[in-house]
Amino acid sequence: MSKFIPVAEPVLDGNEKKYINKCIDTNWISSQGEFVEKFEKDFSDYCNVSYGVSTSNGTVALHLALEALDIGEGDEVIIPDLTFAATINTVIYTGATPVLVDIDEDSWTIDVDEIRKNINKNTKAIIPVHLYGQPCAMDEILRVAEENNIYIIEDCAEAHGAEFNGKKVGSFGDISCFSFYGNKIITTGEGGICLTDDKDLYKRMKKLRDHGMSPKKRYWHDEIGYNYRMTNMQAAIGVAQLEKIDDIMSKRKWISEFYDKELKDLSGVTLQKNLIDRNKVCWMYSVLINEESKVSRDEIIKILDESKIGNRPFFYPMHEMDIYKEYAENDRFEKSTKISQRGLNLPTSLNLTEEDLKRVIYAIKSEV
Ligand SMILES: *Cc1c(COP(=O)(O)O)cnc(C)c1O
Repeated sequence: MSKFIPVAEPVLDGNEKKYINKCIDTNWISSQGEFVEKFEKDFSDYCNVSYGVSTSNGTVALHLALEALDIGEGDEVIIPDLTFAATINTVIYTGATPVLVDIDEDSWTIDVDEIRKNINKNTKAIIPVHLYGQPCAMDEILRVAEENNIYIIEDCAEAHGAEFNGKKVGSFGDISCFSFYGNKIITTGEGGICLTDDKDLYKRMKKLRDHGMSPKKRYWHDEIGYNYRMTNMQAAIGVAQLEKIDDIMSKRKWISEFYDKELKDLSGVTLQKNLIDRNKVCWMYSVLINEESKVSRDEIIKILDESKIGNRPFFYPMHEMDIYKEYAENDRFEKSTKISQRGLNLPTSLNLTEEDLKRVIYAIKSEV
């Protein structure tokens, strides 16, 4: 019987264990210690951004960014209909109103025309999500934000290292948020970070992350903060992962090129696009199953499950879920609906061998 192929898994074969042991040997297991600062510096350098504030996960990174920009009741925040629920939930935490808009057919990311249509005097921010490793149209999004004096918070949770016009995602927004959950491109187990070039925002986020405590007077709180800190042990894993990020990226590139070559001529499959102004990265390997396919996306999932091949359907569009319906009055969401129904993620574990990939490809090819 053939072995199970996971859709994603962390690979911890560098200095992860050594650095974690150092935390234990030195007693620095909580949120102070050398690795936290090193990770913040190394990751912000990697993205070419001045400051990094690490957090306990990617969801609270988004919440921290919104709070630092004073977004709350009465404000509107424009977000794409197709994303992971953390994007919309964090806007709701603040008391602001999320405004869902449709996505663009080529990039599967937020549609800039839809952003324009939904801006009004209450609009305070846009959260472009670089979905499945594909950068959003950052030039146009920057233009809209500037013309209307609204903030950009990039959700980069699925796109570490991706580039728009040669510039890394995470370097465009007023604040940019990443996740380092176990299945993300690099991981700290659970973890996240907010990046910014603005020193005041950096200081504000550090303070809010640490209970809102005054940096000048211990145990004096002049605003309501949170405990959103990353531990030194999480950061230790992150530092080790960052040491290998170029290898991780090239292995992912090898995996996605292998799939591309084998799947590109199938009429039942549409590949994720390589757009001229962008350098996407491979988080999961994402494709659409077309109407031309002999069997539907859901039937393919069943077959992959039976063949012990890990896989994931795309996220559901936010507007379809009852709890978010009230935020979906301004659009028809034709594209997010279609792409969500057809989208399928295939394995991109770094441990995949050529043989594993051939097994996945064979299973797809015999059905579509
Ligand atoms: C993973 C993810 C998050 C949240 O990150 P966690 O670290 O799991 O809290 C936010 N947005 C998107 C698009 C994600 O994929």
